[in-house]
Amino acid sequence: MTYTNYHSHCYFCDGKDTPEVYLQRAIQLGMPAYGISSHAPLPYELSWPMKEADRESYVREIERLKEKYTNQIEVYRGLEVDFIPGVVGPSWVKDTFSLDYTIGSVHFVDFFTNGFPWEIDGRHQVFLQGLQEIFANNIEAAICRYYALVRQMVREDPPDIVGHLDKIKIQSEGSKLFNERATWYEAEVEKTLDSIAEVGLIMEVNTRGIYKQLTPEPYPSYWILERMRERNIPIMLNSDAHHPREISSHFAEVTARLSAIGYEQVRVLYQGVWQDVARFKI
Ligand SMILES: [Zn+2]
Ligand SMILES: [Zn+2]
Repeated sequence: MTYTNYHSHCYFCDGKDTPEVYLQRAIQLGMPAYGISSHAPLPYELSWPMKEADRESYVREIERLKEKYTNQIEVYRGLEVDFIPGVVGPSWVKDTFSLDYTIGSVHFVDFFTNGFPWEIDGRHQVFLQGLQEIFANNIEAAICRYYALVRQMVREDPPDIVGHLDKIKIQSEGSKLFNERATWYEAEVEKTLDSIAEVGLIMEVNTRGIYKQLTPEPYPSYWILERMRERNIPIMLNSDAHHPREISSHFAEVTARLSAIGYEQVRVLYQGVWQDVARFKI
């Protein structure tokens, strides 16, 4: 069984090692291709994105690694890009960094009154503050706004890959804020899947929530993957690694579930082209 991983952080953002160490681990595991995807720079005081000043060195370093390991593994330069309308989005970043691909992730929904964007997958306390200040504690309105932003990104500024679609569920552990099987929630997700299918984007199946013990299922949940399968939305299996030991965490168990859902193929970037490979082998 051969895996790939295209969602990987490193020292250029909040990852725990140099990109080269992740690659060496990927080679050890027999991966045929690997994508580095730091958080793209953001114009806010935040600890986790790459610094704008590091743009050139990021491009150069991934280029150096592509050449150095050319006989062992294919290396791709990506970024995980936020979509904040009027501020940042995948297409502009893809051009600026000469990227092979982008992962588009909505980590922010609207703004606090002080102009700082509301981070929806960070600390729970911050989530609750924004919920109160921006949405008067109306969780349904907040979640619907989140999915509306994902749809806006998909239509107006599509990335290659839609990142961790339902990560917002971590804020509702044990369904304390909302139930992901509520009719209104399912309808929002369905509407979003329709947009993604229409535009033809890849969705990642992201295992980070499992190994961080935030959620028992990947992003997105298995019931969403069933709805994705009905729409023939292509998937990619990613770990969102922040540490080299995480690059294929929980891939085996998730692969078995995907197979049961009817997903026998994943889409990968290999030999420079997007292609579907059967049963996760190349
Ligand atoms: Zn993310
Ligand atoms: Zn990530």
